[in-house]
Amino acid sequence: MEKKKLDDRDALARSAARIVCPACGNDRDFLEVADDVVLTSRYVQNSDGSFTQVGDDSQVLGEIRLYCAECNADMTYYHQRFLDMLF
Ligand SMILES: [Zn+2]
Repeated sequence: MEKKKLDDRDALARSAARIVCPACGNDRDFLEVADDVVLTSRYVQNSDGSFTQVGDDSQVLGEIRLYCAECNADMTYYHQRFLDMLF
């Protein structure tokens, strides 16, 4: 298991661009999962009684993990790269 982790890090250092799941080769679909999220949204009520969202003050209190959406492999070690490449 520890060996596997080191191999993953090597792969991370070698590959310059795309994140690829080391378990199944998926390089397209990923899941970001946040623990302990407090969802806080601000709304204003319009004159006709409808509501419009004007703010999102949601906070993630727990860990954020990244998973392969194909095989659910834990790819959290790629999460920083994922954030860097998120546009
Ligand atoms: Zn996978």
